Amino acid sequence: MIETRVTRLLGIRVPIVQGGMQWVGLPPLVAAVSNAGGLGVLTALTQPSPQALREAIRETRKRTSKNFGVNITLLPSINPPDYEGYARAAVEEGVRIFETAGNNPGPLIAYFKSQGCTVIHKCTTIRHGKSAEKKGVDILSVDGFECAGHPGEEDIGGLVLFARAAKELKIPFIASGGIADSRGFAAALALGAEGINMGTRFMCTVESSIHQNIKEKIVASTEQDTLHIFRTLHNTARVFKNKVSQQVVALERRPGGAKFEELRDLVSGARGRLVYENGDPEYGIWSAGVTLGLIDDIPTCEELVVRMERETEEIIEGLGKLRTRQAKL
Ligand code: NAD
Repeated sequence: MIETRVTRLLGIRVPIVQGGMQWVGLPPLVAAVSNAGGLGVLTALTQPSPQALREAIRETRKRTSKNFGVNITLLPSINPPDYEGYARAAVEEGVRIFETAGNNPGPLIAYFKSQGCTVIHKCTTIRHGKSAEKKGVDILSVDGFECAGHPGEEDIGGLVLFARAAKELKIPFIASGGIADSRGFAAALALGAEGINMGTRFMCTVESSIHQNIKEKIVASTEQDTLHIFRTLHNTARVFKNKVSQQVVALERRPGGAKFEELRDLVSGARGRLVYENGDPEYGIWSAGVTLGLIDDIPTCEELVVRMERETEEIIEGLGKLRTRQAKL
């Protein structure tokens, strides 16, 4: 048993949290992660309206009696969502665990805390982590540069960022970005994290609703198959390297750069969603982390979580034996 403040605060068996992924954080996956002993997280903005989020929450409840959370990400959007409406709908449906991410989360955090909820806030710098800590969040999800999606603009890898978080933060944190196996899990615990967050790894499971071709593409890919778009717009996102993302980067690198309007049709989430529906990895932008290099199977969530828990315990035990051996030398 790997018991930490995170397992206790979230009421889960093993401190593994599924990342809130746009178009991927749907009820079958969320319930499967929670049933396996981790925390499944529904992605609010994947639902077209607050009412649809209510229905997704009810569907998740039919599939699991365990705790699960709802992610709300506040980033530039082509059609700005009704964040408060999604938040209210989820609270009214009885959700008590939220993951916030992105810019200016203060009002949402204050609302969730006023409703007695547990809040995980995702941050990519220690500065933002400390600021969220002051706002009263319960857990930080500290996102290293390896992560899929938005890594912020400061480019600090997990090895340093997690160790800094352990030194600087009072509340517990989960390590996010670059973790897809038990080696990463054990390393994160060694660095002071009290749990881990995995996105790309959970995309590539039996219960993830994305097209089988994309799961097979993840298995076939390596850590060299991602790139960053939106660097020049200060909204950097790590995504799968394909024709569309390479075209976006080429447009950004032209003399004078590119305005968002020139990129919009290439990068829209509506187009990226079709990648997951139709299974053509070249069709649009889809998020992927450097963990592409670590993923070589498509297990059920139960198989994945149980395997990672067992192997991580073995690694920790093995490290303990190393100390005993050294003492004998
Ligand atoms: P979208 O179609 O609105 O935008 C596509 C991409 O362009 C997103 O990365 C977005 O941040 C970016 N973008 C939009 N307007 C921009 C602008 N003016 N300047 C710079 N970049 C801009 O996005 P979507 O896929 O429909 O997603 C809806 C919302 O969910 C967006 O805010 C997106 O950032 C957010 N999101 C959530 C998650 C999550 O894990 N919950 C992951 C990725 C994105």
